[in-house]
Amino acid sequence: MKKIQMVDLKSQYDKIAVTVNASIQEVLNTNAYINGPQVHQFQKGLEDYLGVKHVIPCANGTDALQIAMMGLGLSPGDEVITADFTFAATVEVIALLQLTPVLVDVDLHDMNISLERIKAAITPKTKAIVPVHLFGRAANMEGVMALANEHNLFVIEDNAQAIGADFTTKAGKQSKVGTIGHVGATSFFPSKNLGCYGDGGAIFTNDDDLAHTIRGIVNHGMYERYHHDVVGVNSRLDSIQAGVLNAKLPFLNDYNTSRRDAAARYNAALAGHVNIVTPSFDNDENDHVFHQYTLRIINADRNGLMQHLLDKGIPCAIYYPIPLHSQKAYIDVRYKEEDFPVTNQLVTEVLSLPMHTELEDEQIQFITDSILEFLK
Ligand SMILES: *Cc1c(COP(=O)(O)O)cnc(C)c1O
Repeated sequence: MKKIQMVDLKSQYDKIAVTVNASIQEVLNTNAYINGPQVHQFQKGLEDYLGVKHVIPCANGTDALQIAMMGLGLSPGDEVITADFTFAATVEVIALLQLTPVLVDVDLHDMNISLERIKAAITPKTKAIVPVHLFGRAANMEGVMALANEHNLFVIEDNAQAIGADFTTKAGKQSKVGTIGHVGATSFFPSKNLGCYGDGGAIFTNDDDLAHTIRGIVNHGMYERYHHDVVGVNSRLDSIQAGVLNAKLPFLNDYNTSRRDAAARYNAALAGHVNIVTPSFDNDENDHVFHQYTLRIINADRNGLMQHLLDKGIPCAIYYPIPLHSQKAYIDVRYKEEDFPVTNQLVTEVLSLPMHTELEDEQIQFITDSILEFLK
């Protein structure tokens, strides 16, 4: 059996090496390392794939979130509601821009931001909601957009973990997540579902004016060369990374299918066990592209199971071990423990198993057998 890895980028690369190498070589031949034709080609390719009017590539997913918020003109003191159970980048940029982060609890069934908690957190100062499509599972965008419209709020989708996932409204309208809110942000960090071989990110929007504003912000606030109209940043996707992404974008649907297939195999072996709650993905509205395959281990020794797997050479991890409202950087007197029952529970129960496009049946079998051996 091949050594099990949390993420196996090498095996994935081996299958597309010829195409990727040619793409990189083309950049080396032309020396157009910044803003080369590959960047424009990727932008167009991703716009077509997502069905969105504007993709603005940038340097990483964290920048994408920050720039999206800058583009919307949010200002210090504005309250921005986001999930307590996510990677810190989401709340980090809110704080960095001197906006007021308002962390709210998530739902147990999909680990995504709770509509009830959003509703309860809205005040006259609230300006935006940032749903995160956590672990690749689409958040309830129909519910989020209805709340946002009712209260005149912006919606910034953190789509770093769910590129390619669809959301379908009750009326049957299907859209790619990241393109439903006013603006979406994603990351091409190597281990993400569409990863480059370094850092990369992008912002999506269907709003022409916002796209124009953002194109200036990513480039030092310039709309005309050496005319700086607003305070911007320097955030670029470089041509080599764009070349890698051009080679990989045609495989994104296949990659997401491989992830779903692996998840289905895990579920088949583990669902129904009294100590295991498997992630569900039979719901057509909230598509799941399994950036992570995350179990809840209930009424059992989660940490002991993790050690058992590690001892057997099976990598696994706790995403995320500490709620954001308990992190030193984001502690605030406004937060009360009783407002975060689900996040506080999840951090003690979650366990993420190896998930990538190259998992083999034999490996999955060994992993699930090892879990069941410990839990009996
Ligand atoms: C990865 C990630 C980011 C940040 O992306 P980088 O490219 O690493 O800056 C933001 N939000 C979430 C939920 C992520 O998983």
